[in-house]
Amino acid sequence: MADPHSPSYYAATVNDTTRYPALEGTIKADVCVVGGGFSGIATALSLAEKGRRVVLLEANRIGWGASGRNGGQCIAGISGEAEIERQLGAAGAKLVRDIRYRGHEIIKDRIARYGIDCDWKDGWMEAAARPKHMDKLRAYYEERVNDGEGDHHELIEPGEFRSVLDTSIYCGGIVDRNSGHLHPLNLCLGEARAARSLGVEIFEDSRVLEMSGGAKPFARTARGRVEADSIVLGGDTSHEFERGRLWGLQFPTGSYVIATEPLSDNLARSINPRDLAICDSNIVLDYFRLSGDRRMLFGGRCNYSNRDPRDITATMKARLDEIFPQLTDKKVDFTWSGRIGIVLNRVPAIGRLEPNLYYMQGYCGHGVNATHIAGEIVADAICGTTERFDLFDSIRHWQLPVGRWAGNQLLALGMLYYRLKDKL
Ligand SMILES: Cc1cc2nc3c(=O)[nH]c(=O)nc-3n(C[C@H](O)[C@H](O)[C@H](O)COP(=O)(O)OP(=O)(O)OC[C@H]3O[C@@H](n4cnc5c(N)ncnc54)[C@H](O)[C@@H]3O)c2cc1C
Repeated sequence: MADPHSPSYYAATVNDTTRYPALEGTIKADVCVVGGGFSGIATALSLAEKGRRVVLLEANRIGWGASGRNGGQCIAGISGEAEIERQLGAAGAKLVRDIRYRGHEIIKDRIARYGIDCDWKDGWMEAAARPKHMDKLRAYYEERVNDGEGDHHELIEPGEFRSVLDTSIYCGGIVDRNSGHLHPLNLCLGEARAARSLGVEIFEDSRVLEMSGGAKPFARTARGRVEADSIVLGGDTSHEFERGRLWGLQFPTGSYVIATEPLSDNLARSINPRDLAICDSNIVLDYFRLSGDRRMLFGGRCNYSNRDPRDITATMKARLDEIFPQLTDKKVDFTWSGRIGIVLNRVPAIGRLEPNLYYMQGYCGHGVNATHIAGEIVADAICGTTERFDLFDSIRHWQLPVGRWAGNQLLALGMLYYRLKDKL
């Protein structure tokens, strides 16, 4: 039975309530995409734009997973850039540079082209949680300027920080005016609607139980079957395929979000006058922004052991009040959580298991733009342009030789080390 959307602020404010049917019987397509989050929908839409016949199968509802619950921050680049450059040298450096804003371009283009209403707002900032983090941000700013990106980056030195964000917790930051934030569930549903308008057949409540990319690729659900030339798996942390080859590659970690009641215009403008989305520079980071209707959406406390805090609302509200004492009397209207797919070397895992069976997963908390890049790269590969796909497919990933639970505990230990290092 399909799960409904999690009870988030996003689910309460969807602007599209389309229900797609469950798959019944056998149908044929060029490509069958498994998973109706950003990875699956972005791939399906890229393929449909290239004229391919696509069927998309979602176990629950479109946007049910991380794509419909995340912080909504569209941040430049992908995770694991240094590792990509380390493994691939000059080709890796070029790849990283070429795709830095590719996800943003795809998203902005689709919002405009298909008329998707998802509250896009320009402006994102990384805030320095400690004075020593400012040194990294200054070096990062220099890199951006050297890469010709100085026009949309702005270094905020400690003395001017409170005019950008009214809190004493941070001591500086870097603003990227090209990045921004949005209502992720409305983006995902809008992209699904766009894909449907181009002929993509979408099925909800259609969990894939078995699939193969062999001589006759197929995906089978309880009551139906899709026969296609290629299969794409975009299930991220919630699929259970290829326990040996895909499971050990990534570890689901809990991340938690609260939404306050709407703030008055004056209060919202006084704490965050530029209406930026913010991530802090800690390893276990806080992220926050104002929604379209001026609620403070505050997320973080990423839990690498994958064990949820006992009282998520109280834990998150206490941290929000530390950052913004001005919001102490504001009520929390929504609390929800989701799973972030963490890959050990931080590089999204994009590759294939068999010649016609592709996968994409593990964006390490930077999936809004990265899923759209991955969708384009996989769609290109299926249509015969494999250059960027081959680079990702050649990246060496590490697997822990233990089960997922033990893997999560080892990961939590590793992160504890970095947290302590951060605090010193
Ligand atoms: C709380 C939270 C906050 C985040 N904040 C940000 C942020 O601010 N910025 C950012 O860039 N990233 C953020 N992320 C990460 C980002 O949301 C994800 O990287 C991204 O949404 C992953 O998209 P996806 O489509 O790969 O996976 P999902 O969105 O999880 O979609 C996978 C889908 O596959 C379906 N599925 C699984 N198995 C099957 C099956 N057998 N058959 C059919 N369907 C199946 C699931 O039901 C699900 O709908 C956050 C994540 C979380 C959880």
